[in-house]
Amino acid sequence: DGGGNVKVVVRVRAFLKRELERRAKCLIEMDPITQLTTLLVPEDQEDTKSRKIFEEKQFTFDSSFWSHDIEDKHYAHQEDVYNSLGEEFLDHNFEGYHTCIFAYGQTGSGKSYTMMGTPERPGLIPRTCEDLFERIDAAQNENANIAYNVRVSYFEVYNEHVRDLLVAQAPNKPPNYLKIRESPTEGPYVKDLTEVPVRNFSEILRFMKRGDSSRTVASTKMNDTSSRSHAVFTIMLKQIHHDMETDETTERSSRIRLVDLAGSERAKSTEATGARLREGSNINKSLTTLGRVIAALADPKAHRGGSKRKDVVPYRDSILTWLLKDSLGGNSKTAMIACIAPSDYDETLSTLRYADQAKRIRTRAVVNQDQMS
Ligand code: ADP
Ligand code: MG
Repeated sequence: DGGGNVKVVVRVRAFLKRELERRAKCLIEMDPITQLTTLLVPEDQEDTKSRKIFEEKQFTFDSSFWSHDIEDKHYAHQEDVYNSLGEEFLDHNFEGYHTCIFAYGQTGSGKSYTMMGTPERPGLIPRTCEDLFERIDAAQNENANIAYNVRVSYFEVYNEHVRDLLVAQAPNKPPNYLKIRESPTEGPYVKDLTEVPVRNFSEILRFMKRGDSSRTVASTKMNDTSSRSHAVFTIMLKQIHHDMETDETTERSSRIRLVDLAGSERAKSTEATGARLREGSNINKSLTTLGRVIAALADPKAHRGGSKRKDVVPYRDSILTWLLKDSLGGNSKTAMIACIAPSDYDETLSTLRYADQAKRIRTRAVVNQDQMS
């Protein structure tokens, strides 16, 4: 029942000002019926000798979100993305499953817009939070024997360090990096990470914004951290149900992980030298390892080599993959949102190939339920 493939969806954004100014052509087509996504050959490349590498490519994903042209009747608004993906995943959480949704794509492709959005056009994270408390309120009005406990954490992985986004950074002090531990029952976790209890939507929104601004403040100081860091927003939901007839208490715990990954172009960037190279190679490490983990999970036989599969998947080679181990290949229902720019053949092809591979990954989610009695 909890076994299934990683759900993979794709979303293309509108032109930005700079693309309109250079009269960029849209290279993406999406068929609303078949969900077929086509990457077209850039016009100015058609007759050059490099023609061969610019082939038309087609991919099919679980959903394709056309957010390129707001006039189009198939335009996917933030609400449509939530209704199609966020709502289903929140259903799973109430059933007791862990979930993870991560956004992948080059810098500027719409990852943060999709996950966080803007105050006027909220994305998946604030919509999930709002729906979560609406459901909790409705259930509690209906049934006095059910109690809920919600906690939230928010951290980022930058340069193979984990930083707590809910703790104010002391000015003029080096950042306080957290360590990773592994528990036999819960798997890898961030030691001493702040987990705040929240009672309603406005409280959780406040922490979301606090963490987000902590990320933004760092990014203006440190050379655009946000394109180099992975941000992980986690909601822990506990449902405690007391059955009056049997006098039994059951507890369901689920974890909702929402991840805004670093820009995928970082996985192969080679520009830097010296100190920046060291920083760069560390940044690349989580992203390149994520690629290797996805490749190993997508094609387990090729990597099995006689021993157990879990020995070969290189989760432990980077901080991000170690922490997301469960979400990528274990007890979780997982989705990937491949975000693409409308007019960048190379980066888009690389993102679509990555996403295509992720479709083959199977996870084994279980309902996390305990009889307390
Ligand atoms: P990323 O996080 O992948 O680097 P952003 O989410 O910051 O990219 O998006 C880059 C720019 O494009 C931002 O100005 C954002 O507001 C805009 N944008 C992205 N996706 C959409 C969309 N679907 N509709 C409207 N604007 C978008
Ligand atoms: Mg971003």
